[in-house]
Amino acid sequence: MLDRREGWQPELSVVVPVLNESENIRPLLQRLLPVLEHAARGFEVIFVDDGSNDDTLDVLRELHSRDRRITAISFSRNFGKEIAIAAGLDHAAGRAAIVMDADLQHPPETVAEFVAKWREGYKNVFAQRRDRYADSRLRRALTQRFYHLFDVFGETNLPPGAGDFRLLDRQAIEALARMRERARFSKGLYAWIGFKSIGVPYDVAERAAGTSKFSYRKLTRFALDGLMSFSTIPLRVWTYIGFAISFLSLSLTLYFLLRTLFYGVDVPGFASLIVSVTFLSGIQLLSLGVLGEYIGRIFAEVKRRPLYLVAERIGGEQHEVSSAEHSETQV
Ligand code: UDP
Ligand code: MG
Repeated sequence: MLDRREGWQPELSVVVPVLNESENIRPLLQRLLPVLEHAARGFEVIFVDDGSNDDTLDVLRELHSRDRRITAISFSRNFGKEIAIAAGLDHAAGRAAIVMDADLQHPPETVAEFVAKWREGYKNVFAQRRDRYADSRLRRALTQRFYHLFDVFGETNLPPGAGDFRLLDRQAIEALARMRERARFSKGLYAWIGFKSIGVPYDVAERAAGTSKFSYRKLTRFALDGLMSFSTIPLRVWTYIGFAISFLSLSLTLYFLLRTLFYGVDVPGFASLIVSVTFLSGIQLLSLGVLGEYIGRIFAEVKRRPLYLVAERIGGEQHEVSSAEHSETQV
């Protein structure tokens, strides 16, 4: 799909989304580069600066001036981790790409295992967390709830414990590149594309420096995106609720009719009236809200805005001129 120039092509591209991670970049590379040198025949590390406002970009500039294998794309503002990953994959030139976080929660040593599996013929090699101890208790509980919901209502099955930390073969990268949706729930997309997949277990480490870049607000948005992009149940459930309520009101009508026939007119009933009116308006507002969530997402998609805007490129031009055009024009 990408029309690349002849010449040097790295075997592996490592994509790292970064938002204010200046303290973590050097320690990450210190551990990652030796692994890559050993495991791959030529590699590049692409940092996607997702609108950082610390000195992340300066650090990246300096690292690139010393080592050409380290490149960066800088967004014009914060577009979110999911979109940063998409941009990194758009610019990846390797025959396979690895996606990982910058905060050393994803141990670089696991990358060697990914590559081994890839050489065996797997195209979608994902790391599988053994536990989630690095997160707070509340976040762990909410995450668990979410994945349970996704399991029940989602129309795609997610492998347990799998996240963004993974290796994607060129074929999988091209498949993902064809999905230009804005509300990106990458975990779902990775599962949706299929291909020969396998999990590699790993232990999540503590974040090296700084704090998580995901607030509970961001996580809620993300969870909603995930559920709504991979399930239409929230839309369809109203049909069943509608049926149930209609049935109930029909029975009530019948009951009141018979009661009036046998016992005459009876004025009291104010409480039940108010209760049913408020209950039904609540249900109606709720269903309208669900419709609104979907329509908002449809609106965002039909506007066909580019997924992201690049403010600056640091290195990597020699083999990705065409892929950059591709990402900015084809939306
Ligand atoms: N990140 C990003 N954009 C964002 C939020 C996060 O590029 O809007 C990056 C962040 O710099 C890190 C990775 O995504 O490299 C994972 O973020 P974080 O460690 O904060 O998430 P957590 O581990 O808490 O899920
Ligand atoms: Mg983290």
